[in-house]
Amino acid sequence: MWVSESGAMKEQPRNPDLTTIAGQRVTVMGLGGFGGGAAAVRFLAERGAVVRVSDQRSTEHLKDTLAELNDLKGVDWQLGEHHWSHFSDADFVVLNPAVPPCHPIVLQLEAVGIPLTSEMNLFWELNRGRVIAVTGSNGKSTTTALIHSIMQASGQRCWLGGNIGCSLLPHVDEIAVADWVILEASSFQLHLLDRIKARPDIAVVTNFAPNHLDWHGTLDEYRHAKQTILRWQMSDDFCILNGDDTDVAAWPHSANTTFVYSGPPGELLSMHDAMQAWLDEFGTAHILRRNQQPNILEFPINDWCTLRGRHNLSNALFSIAAAQLAGSTEVAIRQGLEKFEALPHRLQLVGELEGRRFYNDSISTTPESTIAALDSFDEPVVILAGGYDKQIDLTNLSKKIAARAKAASLLGQTAPTLKSGIATANAHLPIESCPDFGQAFAWAVEQSSPGDIILLSPGCASYDWFKSFVDRGDQFCRLVKQLRNRESIGF
Ligand code: ADP
Repeated sequence: MWVSESGAMKEQPRNPDLTTIAGQRVTVMGLGGFGGGAAAVRFLAERGAVVRVSDQRSTEHLKDTLAELNDLKGVDWQLGEHHWSHFSDADFVVLNPAVPPCHPIVLQLEAVGIPLTSEMNLFWELNRGRVIAVTGSNGKSTTTALIHSIMQASGQRCWLGGNIGCSLLPHVDEIAVADWVILEASSFQLHLLDRIKARPDIAVVTNFAPNHLDWHGTLDEYRHAKQTILRWQMSDDFCILNGDDTDVAAWPHSANTTFVYSGPPGELLSMHDAMQAWLDEFGTAHILRRNQQPNILEFPINDWCTLRGRHNLSNALFSIAAAQLAGSTEVAIRQGLEKFEALPHRLQLVGELEGRRFYNDSISTTPESTIAALDSFDEPVVILAGGYDKQIDLTNLSKKIAARAKAASLLGQTAPTLKSGIATANAHLPIESCPDFGQAFAWAVEQSSPGDIILLSPGCASYDWFKSFVDRGDQFCRLVKQLRNRESIGF
């Protein structure tokens, strides 16, 4: 028997038999555009499975992913809609992380007992290496990549993958028992990892805040999915928890625990306030290990970490704690942090022209992220903000922009709301709502002076003017590049 999120007892779900993949009929539900679906299709087809792909999107929509797979023979492509006949004869089904558990096809698959898996589950079951898994509501990708950077500096063989955007399934046979695999795990992926009792050697939880409730249904189910990262660990495993996050710090776990604090132990201030106060006073932050010999470790991360933003200092601490447990020395930690460059679209410095620095923070789709981005600079900031209207409250964001920015170039559907909110708080701040991104960028540049930051941090989703946050960030980078080409004639 099995305990579901709601606490009800139900039958233990059946998992696919992966001892012989050849000859099994497998349906991949949702090819997607992030690489995981395509990696699963290739992996299964190359191992002799009879693969069918069912995707609600059309051939036209999926053309880039289909082009990557056009050398595969014998795959049955069922595109444009999901139909039960694509699934009814499958030995098992590979779900794309975007497919929610309440999808009618998923419910029907569960009802008839067809085993479900995912690209991540397939990898996890076949992987022989040691795993450091990272989850949290914010900071997953940065922390995962930071750990990888330190582990590389330590000279150990290591692999980076999962939700960060690269599937390790194609490399699963190359990964040796002594290697370290550093995986970012989303709540969607963790939801399915629960059924294979996935047990990372080292688990990291950065923080917890409401998110993805449309997929999980309730906050409790979202938390239950996230807690999978700790659920199956045993006393000889390790977990690293954000000690400043009262929710996470109370999560049940059996592994050796390391709490990461940004302030003095026992003072549960908000992460960022505590971090700032502590760093201002001591220039270090600390990590408290429990269960083994309690000890406190301090690191001058302010000096070692090149990333902007206090939240990134927290991420650096999580990564130090994990990499240390995996055998990294202080020298490697320092090197790994010093050589690390911001991931694309995350407060990424993309150019410096005529004394102005351009930062791409296109990943920011929530007001909190843009507020955090504005808090990361001491210099005057000309901000490009706004976008698709998700019907969330923009009052705090407007007030922050009004208080902190030097000028605001507003984008997309939310421009009028932001404009009136900013003007109410600061009637003197230069604001412009432009009809397109090129003009918004040009206006922001006009408002800037040497020494300023020009920051794309929209605080809103991108779907009105752009295909995705990646497209938005890429367009920003292109505009910076075009400006660089014009720099010789002055701007
Ligand atoms: P994720 O993979 O969880 O989406 P990222 O590392 O990609 O996280 O960072 C995305 C954004 O989340 C950042 O630009 C920043 O605004 C915010 N963020 C990152 N780390 C933290 C943190 N430790 N606490 C709060 N917010 C954070």
